[in-house]
Amino acid sequence: MKLSCLGACREIGRSSFLLEDDAGQSILLDCGIKQWKQNLPPLEPPRKPTAVILSHSHLDHCGGLPIPFKHGNPSLFCTPPSAEIAEVLLEDTLKIARQENIPASYSKADMKKALTAVSVIPFEKETKLEGGTSFEFFDAGHITGSSQVLLRCKKNGKRFNFLYSGDFNTRQTQLQESASPPAEKIDCLLVESTYAGREHPPRQRVEKEFAQAVQDAVDDGGTVLVPCFAVERTAEILMVLNRASLSAPVYLDGLGQRICGIMRGHPDYVRNYDAMLASFERARFVEDRPTRRKIAEEPCVIIATAGMLEGGPALDYLQKINEGKRSNAVFLTGYQVKGTNGNRLATEGKIKTKKGTVAINIALKQFDFSAHAAHADLVEYVKEANPGKVFCVHGDQDACQTLAQALAEEGFDAQAPENGQEIRQ
Ligand SMILES: [Zn+2]
Ligand SMILES: [Zn+2]
Repeated sequence: MKLSCLGACREIGRSSFLLEDDAGQSILLDCGIKQWKQNLPPLEPPRKPTAVILSHSHLDHCGGLPIPFKHGNPSLFCTPPSAEIAEVLLEDTLKIARQENIPASYSKADMKKALTAVSVIPFEKETKLEGGTSFEFFDAGHITGSSQVLLRCKKNGKRFNFLYSGDFNTRQTQLQESASPPAEKIDCLLVESTYAGREHPPRQRVEKEFAQAVQDAVDDGGTVLVPCFAVERTAEILMVLNRASLSAPVYLDGLGQRICGIMRGHPDYVRNYDAMLASFERARFVEDRPTRRKIAEEPCVIIATAGMLEGGPALDYLQKINEGKRSNAVFLTGYQVKGTNGNRLATEGKIKTKKGTVAINIALKQFDFSAHAAHADLVEYVKEANPGKVFCVHGDQDACQTLAQALAEEGFDAQAPENGQEIRQ
């Protein structure tokens, strides 16, 4: 049995791992891209995948899904919401790549081929692959439809359980239940490390402070821009604002509108479904340019993609409200990867646009609405899974090594592999 690390090792982005089992099957776990690095794809797998399993539909996991279909016909498995979200994100990625002249790793035909090959599998339903290996999805509590993937393989005739955590959260949020590893013997674990070495403030406190800051800004007559990831964060922010009974209109613009539509169709994958619907009812969907111009001047909240200000209506709104009232504000709600406009704004107070660098002079606040387990929870999760071996991935160099070190101190056989590394079990 061999595990090839094709991306997301000592980095965030382009998650992809190939597991070759003893029965000759090669199973690709995720095929993401680094969307903030010109859609950088993962490394080429050493063998053509016979099956592709998607943990969840964030672009760093699903953005390269069509690549294995360029020269192959693998089967493709994911949860029902993941399939619908991936379709929207892949179409959008191709569209933006065309507009911005970014070289694409696949064609529209490859994308169609991948989407037609999808088999949707719900949580906790064992699915058999060729050759005897089977897999099962377990709720990862990260976004709608996100899963941990448990592979039940055979090694030297004996059962060998391989768990891929995907991205996960062991704390309950407005939309997701808390996750825990499947209660089975785990021989090998591939675990995310995004927030290793760091902790999050309590969620309820963040929600309260966020709602209060928004209320204060609109009370001062300001327009508040909340750049949000289309997937999950948009819906979560709508719910937080609805619960706080904000006395100002809440507008929703960009790709988040379509993702909210998908979430509406999957009550089984959302916690507090009715509260989510109520928050959607209250939001006003922006559909045309005149509305965009008008709302950028009124006291209101605008929730818009992209979450890291790498494009989308959020970037246009930011430039507009930056030239407007002094009471205007921008509130960031997610992880801002180095090299993105969101990170530039947070660390240097400026953004890059097609016209050049723009200094942002309005108030800026950051709120930690993370959907990833933080350090203590990561360690707790690994202790609960109690694997024979653990590989720490999906985090920057420091984070992956910090987690591996912390786990080694707890007595685990832990390491932070590198991209291109092949691990024989
Ligand atoms: Zn994710
Ligand atoms: Zn991720």
